[in-house]
Parts: sequence; C-alpha cells; structure tokens
Amino acid sequence: MNVYVMIGAPGAGKGTQAQILSKRLGFVHVASGDLFREAAASGTPLGREASRYMERGALVPDDLVIAMIEERLSRPDADAGVVLDGFPRTRAQAEALDAALAARGSKVTSALYVGVNERELVRRLAGRWLCRAAGHPYHEISAPPRLPGVCDIDGSELYQRDDDKPETVRARLEQQLPPMFDVIDHYRSRGVLAAVDGELPIDDVADALLRVVTAPAHNGAPG
Ligand code: AMP
Repeated sequence: MNVYVMIGAPGAGKGTQAQILSKRLGFVHVASGDLFREAAASGTPLGREASRYMERGALVPDDLVIAMIEERLSRPDADAGVVLDGFPRTRAQAEALDAALAARGSKVTSALYVGVNERELVRRLAGRWLCRAAGHPYHEISAPPRLPGVCDIDGSELYQRDDDKPETVRARLEQQLPPMFDVIDHYRSRGVLAAVDGELPIDDVADALLRVVTAPAHNGAPG
C-alpha cells in the first residue's frame, strides 16, 4: 500500500495539492477535515462530538481521529494507495499511523511538506470563501469571484467556513503549528520527509510534488 502524507499548515494549499497528486497517481484522497464535516453534517455521534472541537478551531482528540482514519484505510478503495490530507496532525497520530500500517505490513512511503510562511497563511485564510454547492474556493484579494458572493462556476452562494473567520484563524494557527512541526520531525527522523515551496503558483507546487514522488531515489515510488 502506497501511503503519502501531505503536511502543511491551514491555508498552505495542502488540500488542493493532495487532490491534484491523488488524481495524478490514481490514489484515494483521504481528508480528515472532510470526513469530520461529513460526519457532522449527517449528525453521527462521532460527528457531533467532533464538531464541538472544530467550531472553536481546536484539534479533535487523537483517539477519535485515529479510529476514523483506520476505518477509512480498511475500505477496499484504499488498497492501491492513499494521499492523506490533514492527518497525522500530532506526533501521537503519526505514531498511531505507523502502528496501523505496520500491522498491515506497510509504512508511510513519503511525507510531503508544503511550506508557507505564517504571515502569508493568515492573509490566505482570512480572505477565503467557498461555494455552497461544490466548495469551489475564492479569495477576496487574490481570486475574487466575478459577482461578489456568487460562485463563477455554478452560481451558488459563497460562504466563509466558521473556522476561516479572522478571529478563529490565529487561534487555529497557534494551536496547530507546534504539533505540525512535531510531525515534520517525526518523518525527518525516519528519513521519509520531503519539502516543497508552497508559495509558488499552484501548478508549480504540484509539479514539484510529482517530481519528488517519482524521483528514482525516492523510496517506494510508484512504477
Ligand atoms: P481541515 O479541513 O483539515 O482544516 O480540518 C478542519 C477541522 O477538523 C480541524 O480544525 C480540526 O478541528 C479537525 N481535524 C481534522 N483533521 C484532524 C486531525 N488529524 N486531528 C485533529 N483534528 C482534526
């Protein structure tokens, strides 16, 4: 099983990159935030519990996250490979992932860090708007819609995610950056960390990531 871990702060573009990379490699894109939002929207016990943390920009406790990801990895469509997006976010989660994969005779193929400096993260997050119908992303300054508040692609209403509102953005970064650096250390010490510059244009970041995962020196590169 090929397992790529995408690492990046909120707003670094790791979700966008995980989507592009998973498509290019033919792997499943597994985004922990999306799994939680789906569970919250369908009102499952897990979803209700998780939304208590998500609403205030806090991390959901490790045991809930780990149980959810293990369930997702056990589905057949994950057999060929996965690109994990938003997980692991703490050292404990990274260790739990190692253990879950070891139990299947597998391990993390590569951890891919999309680096963006903190000022740029705040600028990106506080201006981000998404469309209700499909989550198409816009930015107040760098990518505004043609009509304010309306999606160019499907005409649906634009909204700001509760945890993208300026007052929550700084709290999210303050809470999420230190554990993210622990996760980076974890993979560096295992020799599977690669970093790309997340401040480049989207296509350039995507190409850099593809070069990393297909480089001959890269452990376990597909093909
Ligand atoms: P995201 O869409 O990745 O920004 O995730 C949205 C929210 O879901 C986060 O702010 C957390 O509350 C929660 N969440 C997602 N992934 C994790 C994780 N690996 N560990 C803890 N909480 C998570």
